[in-house]
Amino acid sequence: MPVITRFAPSPTGLLHLGHAHAALTAWSAARWAGGRFLLRIEDIDGTRCRPEFTAAILEDLAWLGLDWAGEVRVQSRHMAEYRAALDQLAARGLLYPCFCTRADIAREVAAAGAAPHGPDGPLYPGTCRRLARASREARMASGEPYALRLDMAAAMALAPANLSFEEAGEGRIGCDPVQFGDAVLARKEVPASYHLCVTHDDAFQGVTLVTRAEDLKPATHLHRLLQVLLGWPEPRYAHHRLLTDATGRRLAKRDGAPSLRALREAGRSPAEARALAGFADT
Ligand code: GLU
Repeated sequence: MPVITRFAPSPTGLLHLGHAHAALTAWSAARWAGGRFLLRIEDIDGTRCRPEFTAAILEDLAWLGLDWAGEVRVQSRHMAEYRAALDQLAARGLLYPCFCTRADIAREVAAAGAAPHGPDGPLYPGTCRRLARASREARMASGEPYALRLDMAAAMALAPANLSFEEAGEGRIGCDPVQFGDAVLARKEVPASYHLCVTHDDAFQGVTLVTRAEDLKPATHLHRLLQVLLGWPEPRYAHHRLLTDATGRRLAKRDGAPSLRALREAGRSPAEARALAGFADT
């Protein structure tokens, strides 16, 4: 099977060394296997993503010495495809509209006296799953904004009991998508979500090896479930470490991690930037 990898940044700021590490991980994995490295811009969130950062990503990756195969896939241009995937799930009764605000959810969770958390935050207490059909339809018809949530119990009933994913160096890892509860697959303000789009695009683009930072490893449990529900192929996964600063803290823009742009402007060479990102040239 050809090795097809990808780097999938969100254009919410300039790339820093942590992104360079992620991009180089994907790029080298493809290169050493004689495969292909793809670039995808994950920009469905129009409030946080900006086109000038997309332009900067392309420029900074090229400066770093990375090249990608084919056209860059820009997610915001493919909303109809995500809609079609949602429609497939909806047709099987696996989605329901959720009208709750964050405050509604916080109130419900507080009233329940327990606040179980999943990888995406407090677990949804299921309020809108229990709405009567008539009231659900009336609220939708009235134009009240809603998200679409996966009915996790219904979804799990369709998944094999031994659902798992293949992690490089670890073998098969059993999946626990239930830790997400009824995950949001389409947000109120964006009719899609990270989980849906990333899984759709990895399948659509033929990605066979998903490399990404280990903070996204929990998300893979949900992505495997979506692959099974939607009949998409299963890639292999290799979650890599997060680069940290001298104090051991993960590199992040908000903590002042230097951008590739700043390194370049300070006169660092691409080879030096690659070495700082953990990829010294041999
Ligand atoms: N777009 C995601 C991010 O910027 C990465 C998605 C992925 O690699 O699965 O963190």
